[in-house]
Amino acid sequence: MIDGATRTQLSKNWNAVTDEVQQATVAAGRPAGSTKIVGVTKYVGAETTLALAEAGCYDLGESRPQLLWQKVDEVAFPPQVQWHLIGHVQRNKLRRSLSLDPIIHSVDSGRLLIAIAEEAAAQQRTATVLVEVNISGEAAKTGLAPEQVETLLTQLPRNGVVVVGLMAMAGWGIEASEARSQFAETRRLRDDLQSRLGVCLPELSMGMSGDFIEAIAAGATMVRIGSRLFEGLPT
Ligand SMILES: *Cc1c(COP(=O)(O)O)cnc(C)c1O
Repeated sequence: MIDGATRTQLSKNWNAVTDEVQQATVAAGRPAGSTKIVGVTKYVGAETTLALAEAGCYDLGESRPQLLWQKVDEVAFPPQVQWHLIGHVQRNKLRRSLSLDPIIHSVDSGRLLIAIAEEAAAQQRTATVLVEVNISGEAAKTGLAPEQVETLLTQLPRNGVVVVGLMAMAGWGIEASEARSQFAETRRLRDDLQSRLGVCLPELSMGMSGDFIEAIAAGATMVRIGSRLFEGLPT
């Protein structure tokens, strides 16, 4: 059971994050509500995930498909919830995952993109996805190198999937200024792909608890925020 103190803290955190995201969005010259906040719930169980939705966070992100399945089996989420898959997705996890109509931020190969398109078409859906780009160049980070993103976008499946943008993570333990330049580079890559390939990539999923202000300044339209939302919860 989720107690009142936990609910109060979750609301407080959600409101604080919402305010900061709005301010950063306005400072970047965009309308206040135009940055989507994906609450990353991989740290908490199903009940706390539901409580976050009830506090107003209806975009929920999980990094592991099985944990998402477990949560939807365990509790009934309100219909407004939009799930986001933000971690590596194996192709054998697609059938069940796509039945939940998630936005997949972490497409990191042409094979995965084709498998998503095929499974979505079999389920009479169109999956909404982003391509993950390894902008920091760190070997440990997932995602495609910028040149590979271009190749992938020139070989898009015709049905079953729509690529709406790019996802990126800044390198670990770097200065804010360096994170900012990696986000700016992601945006330049997006702008360049749009103009050269004639594709439409409106979404940039970048920025986490520690760097979402920098990401929004650089043009993020979706921020993926986990730990900030669960600060100070009674344990
Ligand atoms: C965990 C995770 C986040 C959230 O990170 P926080 O620093 O807790 O906000 C965002 N994106 C991805 C891909 C993650 O795995």
